[in-house]
Amino acid sequence: CFGEQQPPLNGFRQQYILGEKIGEGAFSVVRKATEKSTGTVYAVKCFRKVNLSEQDIKDIHLEVNLLRQMHHDHVLNLHAFFDEPEFYYTVMDLVEGGELFDRIVEKEYYTEKECRDLIKILLETIQYCHGLGIVHRDLKPDNILMTSRDDDASIKIADFGLAKQDAMENNMISSCGTPEYIAPEIARNVFSKEKTPYGKAVDIWSIGVITYVLLCGYTPFHANNQVQLFRKILKGHVEYHSPYWDDISSEAKHFVSRMLVVDPTKRATAAQLLKDPWVIGQDVSSAQLP
Ligand code: ADP
Ligand code: MG
Repeated sequence: CFGEQQPPLNGFRQQYILGEKIGEGAFSVVRKATEKSTGTVYAVKCFRKVNLSEQDIKDIHLEVNLLRQMHHDHVLNLHAFFDEPEFYYTVMDLVEGGELFDRIVEKEYYTEKECRDLIKILLETIQYCHGLGIVHRDLKPDNILMTSRDDDASIKIADFGLAKQDAMENNMISSCGTPEYIAPEIARNVFSKEKTPYGKAVDIWSIGVITYVLLCGYTPFHANNQVQLFRKILKGHVEYHSPYWDDISSEAKHFVSRMLVVDPTKRATAAQLLKDPWVIGQDVSSAQLP
């Protein structure tokens, strides 16, 4: 049906060879792609335009616009963007270690030292984004990619598809994110007609949930359905169950508690958390763990 619209002469297909599928997004397929001129292998997110609403299209352009502003070792780097008759293609650096999500499933949980190393990088990276006025809004272990299969692999934050920037902060009233990692101020908007704006603190809440999961292997809030789940998140009552938390230091629990604070104005910021004793401490060792 796009017969009359020829692909551009200097388009994606002329410059890249598409390879195997490596991931799937809500509206996209992620594949390997080799740049013909350099032989470099990238990851390309392919969006078929017929599947997209006007809002999706706006979101794709916004994600590209945000990625272009960010230059950080731990933020997925955008290499090129193509707007073609049938597809959008976003070409990014290829990250080969899979999702943090799968790593947690494999390992079951992280030692405190492993967790601290990862969370420190995550906080530094999110501090950088927040400094640019960019709020990710969808931090969760499937959007954090591992740089390699090794145990000491580093991370790249991916998927700024729901991210927003300063100018729009007052309009950040849409409800988004993955239920188990969303902040109470987002959950509240689902129940209430009056939409309250929310900002940077939503990412800190999600990092709190991620830290909790890394340390014990399960999420702090869960329920049989979304309404129940949101109620639990709104209460924000965090338990450190025995025996899973028995061997985890009180400094680590205190650190998690500074992030899982229901009132976003009382929640610690990335800068404050980077000075937390557990984050800077060297001697809360993994030796305490089995
Ligand atoms: P969506 O916004 O629809 O969730 P994502 O950007 O999260 O899409 O991409 C979906 C999945 O594709 C990711 O969870 C990841 O497994 C994989 N993926 C995305 N980008 C890359 C990349 N640069 N390198 C390797 N895998 C990637
Ligand atoms: Mg994603």
